[in-house]
Amino acid sequence: MKNNFLTLTFSSIAENVSISRMLIASIGAQLDLSLNDIEELKVVVSEAVSNAIIHGYQNNPEKNVTLEIEYNPEKLQITVRDEGCGISDVEQAMQPAYSTDPERMGLGFVFMQSFMDELKVDSVLDQGTTVTMVKTLHKNNPSLN
Ligand code: ATP
Ligand code: MG
Repeated sequence: MKNNFLTLTFSSIAENVSISRMLIASIGAQLDLSLNDIEELKVVVSEAVSNAIIHGYQNNPEKNVTLEIEYNPEKLQITVRDEGCGISDVEQAMQPAYSTDPERMGLGFVFMQSFMDELKVDSVLDQGTTVTMVKTLHKNNPSLN
């Protein structure tokens, strides 16, 4: 399979979470990933996009979220970017069960961490947040995916 790059910029509204999930699922299928892997990719994309919408933009539909997906036979990289409020303490935000909203579970970053091989969070207060996630693919041994 050739290297491929896609970018999608969309309004910060909840229905775009499911569109993002469908996009990553179809890429996972093209890459011949297992159903389990595809489920996990849908979860991590949902979590990162939901965070951008809910936390980054406080559900302001005038704002935009960008999802970038890049892959080759060896690896799949997913980037979710917002230009929202930013995170004051990234290390604390990534702790299991930490949330600034008492109604939430604080598990989004836990899923991203456990389902992907690399997770990087770059955030600047009042400027925004970029979440970059990498999944290593095992082209010659799909059973390892
Ligand atoms: P859950 O994902 O379980 O619904 P949560 O969103 O609070 O709960 P995480 O996804 O792990 O949990 O995020 C932890 C915290 O990091 C959030 O409560 C929020 O304060 C902060 N955060 C995460 N993503 C962003 C973002 N894009 N912009 C601003 N703050 C963010
Ligand atoms: Mg979350």
